[in-house]
Amino acid sequence: MNYIVLDLEWNQAAYKIDEEDQLPFEIIEIGAVKLDENAEKIDEYSALIRPQVYPFLVRKTREITHLSDEDLDNNGVYFEEACPQFLEWCGKDYIFCIWGTSDLIQLQRNMAYYHLKMPWKYPLKYLDVQKLYALEKGENKTRKTLEHVIDLYGIEKDLPFHRAVDDAEYTARVFRLLDREHFESYFSIDYYRLPRNRFEEKTYAFNTYLKFVSREYPMKEDLMKSRKLRELPCFYCRRLTKRTVNWFSDSQKSYFALGECREHGLIRARIRIKTAEDNKGVFGVRTVKPCTEEDKAVILNKRDNLKNKRKERRKRVSVKEKAETEKKTEKRQKKG
Ligand SMILES: [Zn+2]
Repeated sequence: MNYIVLDLEWNQAAYKIDEEDQLPFEIIEIGAVKLDENAEKIDEYSALIRPQVYPFLVRKTREITHLSDEDLDNNGVYFEEACPQFLEWCGKDYIFCIWGTSDLIQLQRNMAYYHLKMPWKYPLKYLDVQKLYALEKGENKTRKTLEHVIDLYGIEKDLPFHRAVDDAEYTARVFRLLDREHFESYFSIDYYRLPRNRFEEKTYAFNTYLKFVSREYPMKEDLMKSRKLRELPCFYCRRLTKRTVNWFSDSQKSYFALGECREHGLIRARIRIKTAEDNKGVFGVRTVKPCTEEDKAVILNKRDNLKNKRKERRKRVSVKEKAETEKKTEKRQKKG
């Protein structure tokens, strides 16, 4: 299997009012490097795209890419032509490697805009090199820029940055330095195209957690009724555990619960509510991890704090209401 290290450059509307809903970002360049299974470079691909939605490059894009409108008009190919060419160049058996999460979404958005067929099997798995780098360095929550990581590794900067094929080349250089055997099990799942029915909803096993991605629901309330999403499988044996702390929410976006497997002990679960690509519906991503007594205490503490806060809020509201009623009565009495 090959690795396709992909990088895109895109342009946008100069003013929000001119933005095309279906295509906020128009791809103006596709760049990619093909690596074999040993991460050795075997080929590269580069194409300028002639814009059709936003015909003029905004200043930001011009400054970042050093491309001009003339470059694209004279040397660009329309996306409907370039994209199938690129996909053919990719071959049959490959996985995308990308710096961050947005390029794959933009590629699919642009393809959807021109009604191009997406040739991939879904769910689409890919490797987010930015995330893999952070994991390897134990920096779980931080995301560094490509140029910053190139500097940290002391990789030679013999190419300009922010042109698609050069950024793809730099990403490939970082990828090559990562401990791939260890990190290939940390693939990412693309959320552009969600499971369409319950048969497509899947649980993925990673080294330290299970992940489940739901289908799309119109509202959070419908989503949270999904039995499959609320299930609490054991991290080790996948059998359903006995729920010891029912799902509770700390905000609009996250839910927590605890379960206990008779054989393997405690597990902790979290549901993150996310907005679907169409901006209409929502979906949930549930993770399950093993749970220590300490983790359990943290979660119980969180739940109790929330309960207390809610109680206090209710008290405050009722005090305020009482005061207001008293004021009104007073006024009425004065008038009377
Ligand atoms: Zn178990």
